[in-house]
Amino acid sequence: MRAVRSLTTLGAALAIGLAVSACSDGNSATPSEEVAGPDPLMSAVHGGGKGGDGALHPGLLHGFKRVVDLTQTLDENTPVIYLPPPFANSPGLTRDVISFFDAAGPAWAWYTLHLGEHTGTHFDAPCHWITGRDLACLEEVPPEHLIGPAVVIDVRDKVARDPDYLVTVEDAKAWERRHGRIPAGAWVILQTGWSKRYNDPAAYLNDGHTPGPSKELTEFLAFERDIRGLGVETVGTDAGQAGTFDPPFPNHNIMLGAGKYGITSLTNVDKLPPRGAVLIVAPMKVRGGTGSPVRVLALVP
Ligand code: MN
Repeated sequence: MRAVRSLTTLGAALAIGLAVSACSDGNSATPSEEVAGPDPLMSAVHGGGKGGDGALHPGLLHGFKRVVDLTQTLDENTPVIYLPPPFANSPGLTRDVISFFDAAGPAWAWYTLHLGEHTGTHFDAPCHWITGRDLACLEEVPPEHLIGPAVVIDVRDKVARDPDYLVTVEDAKAWERRHGRIPAGAWVILQTGWSKRYNDPAAYLNDGHTPGPSKELTEFLAFERDIRGLGVETVGTDAGQAGTFDPPFPNHNIMLGAGKYGITSLTNVDKLPPRGAVLIVAPMKVRGGTGSPVRVLALVP
């Protein structure tokens, strides 16, 4: 491991993450259940490319051809989840200028950010929820948990007919009949198409009528498939009406209580294959943090 750690490239970090993941998470998947496509563990590592166009440096991760950014741009218009009284709400992003190439800093620009932890494309740590309050906060999340295979379950047709659609266990099993068993350690993304509304906050929040996972799907993914976490295109990992469910916000309750994670407000999900991509999920490392804006990248074969 020491020799491996001496490598400093992204590819090495990926290789470490996936190797540790495969060895340490109790992954019970058989080889036939592994995600098809390139095998990151066998990939050569040759150093970084210059980047900028999504093209990976040749050989950096053999077999992956593209990087897809699943992150929405964070700005002052970024929609934030709304909770009814008596609950407190979380502020969206505002910025103050510290200096902007002026007397306060003639050669530099920088800003102070004000925002709730759970703003924009963001990561939910287990300690966000009362069921996970003794589990990991941001700084305690093992890095190997932040890289894993992506499973994309497309329910866009059903959501187009019903914005309150709750994704079912049957939706997941239909995916498995076509693509194989959802592997342990996977990031499961609910492809609802909801990201298309992102630039219209009213349509995005839709008065609390937004899709999400059913309680039964959350239980299935957490306990029968041992996934790493759930990713969604909506403002939160629960459906818009989930505050009225039993338990309230069942995905938060169950998934975070099981030590798993959430990622919200994803975009570009339609650029991913149903299986075969690798997700890189990189939240901030704030001590005691319950969530963080996150850059979510997908490596696509
Ligand atoms: Mn959150």
